[in-house]
Amino acid sequence: MTQRQHFDVVVIGAGIAGLGAAALLAKDLGKTVLVVERAPFIGGRAVSFVGKGDKVVVDGIELDASGLKKALAHARTFVSATTPDLEAIFENGLLDGYTFEAGGHGLFWGNNSRVRCLLDHLGEAIDLPVNNGFAFVDHAGGDAAWQVAPRQKYPWMSEQGYVKAMEALRDMAMCGVEDAAALMKISLADWLATKDLPADAYEYLKVLAASQTGHADPARTPAGDFLPYMATARSVGMNLITGSVATAHEPGTIAIAQAMEKVVLQCGGQVRRNTAVDHVIIENGKATGIALRTVDGVETVTAGAVICTIPQRHIFSVLAREAFPADWVRLHEQECWGAGFLSAFIGLRRDVWKDKGIDERSFIYMPGIIRGEGYIGDVDVVMWAMGTVARRSPDGKRTFEFSIALTDNEMRDPQKVKRVTDWCDDWFRKMFPTWKEDVEFCIWTPSPEAYGIWRAVGTERVDVKSAHVEGLYFAGDQYGRRLWGGGIDGASLSAVMCVDAIAGSNLEDAIFPPHHRGLPRG
Ligand SMILES: Cc1cc2nc3c(=O)[nH]c(=O)nc-3n(C[C@H](O)[C@H](O)[C@H](O)COP(=O)(O)OP(=O)(O)OC[C@H]3O[C@@H](n4cnc5c(N)ncnc54)[C@H](O)[C@@H]3O)c2cc1C
Repeated sequence: MTQRQHFDVVVIGAGIAGLGAAALLAKDLGKTVLVVERAPFIGGRAVSFVGKGDKVVVDGIELDASGLKKALAHARTFVSATTPDLEAIFENGLLDGYTFEAGGHGLFWGNNSRVRCLLDHLGEAIDLPVNNGFAFVDHAGGDAAWQVAPRQKYPWMSEQGYVKAMEALRDMAMCGVEDAAALMKISLADWLATKDLPADAYEYLKVLAASQTGHADPARTPAGDFLPYMATARSVGMNLITGSVATAHEPGTIAIAQAMEKVVLQCGGQVRRNTAVDHVIIENGKATGIALRTVDGVETVTAGAVICTIPQRHIFSVLAREAFPADWVRLHEQECWGAGFLSAFIGLRRDVWKDKGIDERSFIYMPGIIRGEGYIGDVDVVMWAMGTVARRSPDGKRTFEFSIALTDNEMRDPQKVKRVTDWCDDWFRKMFPTWKEDVEFCIWTPSPEAYGIWRAVGTERVDVKSAHVEGLYFAGDQYGRRLWGGGIDGASLSAVMCVDAIAGSNLEDAIFPPHHRGLPRG
């Protein structure tokens, strides 16, 4: 059976970028929109799960252990190790009452973030509570754990290291969006090199950047994608010590996509799950619609514009390579790289950090657990207990989450993943003598392209309006010539830029304060 329908805009992918763009097109611009999503649920990589008895629920669907694995695959994430085994975790209902993400999602600037600005504009605000406090584990110094106090020297740092780190942070805070275009041409490593930093200061700033960008090696990070975040700290009056990294209450970050979908539907738009785009129809250099794979065969939908939110390494699954210059295709398929996160989600029976003098609501850094050994950068750990700042765990219980920046290639090497996982498992037991009794379960999930597909330093991002096919647009955490940053906030800004490119509007200035806007126009 073949159906034919027409929309002003069709959107491929129901993640933050796709639903954000569709909501604006429908609500602010009165466009007819269709969003198609190949997964049975919306959210894309920002998908989260709630344990219910011996199942987990995502977007109203109940899943068992194998269902969870399939669902995580849609978020480009897989399960590498669990304790006890995943089937036992499910059969024993150990996830009951816990909310967890495909990986840990720490949303910088919480209720002052870009995504919150977008949700506010759509009239669908969601509370994004932040951590409270910042702690540091000096692994090389015998695992001393320090709660960092406001305006006091970092106890693990030398006097000189602290002074230099604060100087560099002050310089970062002065790098506004207007400076970011020039900073895109150099790496963060090059920028840090101009600061003449002692090793301890360099290490701290490197982990700070990795916790934001998912890049373990500053040589891979365009300086303009990180420094304005620090300037944002000044603008929004937040920092790691006062609290700056948010999560969402049950049902987790999927609530963001669900709020956006609500707006799409209220404004007459459509969202179709379980619907994979087979290809974008391109006729005479113009995108005119999409062909969908359905159980009934191929269905064609025509549209005035097509927005593709598939991360750029994978766009040729729906776009014909012949429609684009060969070097452009090669750039995205072969030369871009995936910034991955190796995450652990742990259920705890009690607050284990209290014994160490650490407030469990803290954001906790533990850099340099593995150095050398063929990893791109040092392996650094960022930890937090999001279940203590938001409603995400059963009464009296705790979540504890790990996030470790590795590249896509490292993540696809089982030995490299196992080495990190084993190291951490050993460390837990050494650090917390009652760990075995305190832990209910532990789930390790590598995600090779979690924080998106990144370009080489000095290379421009793909713009939101295709330079090669008329009527084709891109939105997503790494699309937009004027975008800086990444993650959920990157996807939010990109969605708005994409809508502005289609409609000739200026929603960007209407939705975001200056510190959240893109690189200067022109
Ligand atoms: C483990 C992990 C940890 C993360 N940590 C953080 C963090 O701490 N902070 C932060 O801000 N961000 C984090 N992120 C990144 C954040 O989730 C993403 O940047 C954001 O969700 C990207 O949204 P998007 O809409 O651009 O892309 P996506 O969410 O990837 O959306 C693309 C959508 O397209 C769909 N699709 C693909 N092919 C087709 C097709 N042929 N037909 C139809 N649909 C298709 C996909 O199923 C998907 O839903 C993390 C992600 C992961 C996985």
